[in-house]
Amino acid sequence: MKTSLVAMIALVWSFTLNAESIFHAPKTFKTAEGQVVFIDIKTADYSVTYDPKTKKVMAQSILVFETKETGMVAFDLVENPTSMSLDGEAISSKVISSPDKDTWFRIALKNTTPGLHKLEISSPITQSVSFGSEGVSSAFWFTDLGDRSYLEAYLPANFEFDQYQITLNLDFKTMNKQKIYTNGKVTTLENNRYRIEFPETYTSSSLYFHTAWAGRYNEKSFVFKSLDGRELPAIVYTGDKSLNLESIKTKITQSLDALETKYGPFLHQSVTVFIAGSGGMEYCGATMTDVWALNHELTHSYFARGGFMPANGNSGWIDEAITTWSDTGASTLENPNNIRSNMAGNSEYRRYTHIDAYTQGKNFMAYLNYKYQASGGLSAFLNQLISSESFRPMTTEEFVGKMSDFYSEDLMPLFKKHTYSGKSVQGTPGEHPIHMKMTIQEMRSLL
Ligand SMILES: [Zn+2]
Repeated sequence: MKTSLVAMIALVWSFTLNAESIFHAPKTFKTAEGQVVFIDIKTADYSVTYDPKTKKVMAQSILVFETKETGMVAFDLVENPTSMSLDGEAISSKVISSPDKDTWFRIALKNTTPGLHKLEISSPITQSVSFGSEGVSSAFWFTDLGDRSYLEAYLPANFEFDQYQITLNLDFKTMNKQKIYTNGKVTTLENNRYRIEFPETYTSSSLYFHTAWAGRYNEKSFVFKSLDGRELPAIVYTGDKSLNLESIKTKITQSLDALETKYGPFLHQSVTVFIAGSGGMEYCGATMTDVWALNHELTHSYFARGGFMPANGNSGWIDEAITTWSDTGASTLENPNNIRSNMAGNSEYRRYTHIDAYTQGKNFMAYLNYKYQASGGLSAFLNQLISSESFRPMTTEEFVGKMSDFYSEDLMPLFKKHTYSGKSVQGTPGEHPIHMKMTIQEMRSLL
């Protein structure tokens, strides 16, 4: 116990990047069970076993986290745990809602004092898994247009504000050779086991993981030469055997070259593109997309999963608005009078992006581009943001503060008028024609 405590303390000292994570957490609140407190996860170690005999997937998860207040810790896991322990003591958990019922999540039913703790959870993975005679297809698909739809749909995870070191251990038992597509660093171990380590800047919306049996997909590996001289490993793969991967590779390279010209060197260590034929979702340096949405999704590697990262559902509109604006020609709009949507001022517990980001949000960015055209337009600010704030999850208020500093004008009244007011209706995933986002259940067909 002492050794592990010393190790845990050493570990915490080693974290500087995510030290401020907890300040983006929603407010502590009281519920029927007692005080609910949000946590700062330091490390998450997931060990996932795919059993071809039972066709079941089980995850053993160890979360080391810190709390600042006494209470029952909040995290999330959509699947029902089969067992849980907190600091070695068996406990149970419960799914509760935020006080305003805006989101649902899980709490550990035990009062926890401030400090470092260890939460161990066994749980199944039942979403986006398909066993076949040749192996298993399994993916952690996310959507930012639905509640509880990031990593927590598969494994215990925190709200999007938190950055932590994630290690994913995979055991495929006696199955044939599996392919692994991911934006983490893969180490091949003995006996059909793998370890994937992800950057400590990752949040619950960052990581890309997809495995399938060898031969399931056509794929093309290549090297993307970044503006800064790095040679980044890149891969494009698809189940559509009629697609010409050479020409898609050219499209990817052209898209990345243009993005680097506009926004600087690619922010990630690899490029992974799954041409799924539908879907459309961004990850850090990775995407599941269709060919026509490729540039939109790769742009998200700068805005959403890199240069700008949303700290919560109230700032998710920013990356969708910038990406849509950038991808559709970086236009200008002279008159913002028709822009009025509450994309930024919803419940402080909000965990998904407002769908007006694609339309009203994009138009608002076009207006800002017009308003500041004499100062280099919106891109001038975005480049400054990327160079100084990459991989730092941000709220809308912080974004407005940075922009106000850059253009030397208090922009909060303008944002309040156009992005914190108006109707608050939320569409459902899949409704939007540009993005074609799907629910996690719908994405199962893309395995
Ligand atoms: Zn998008």
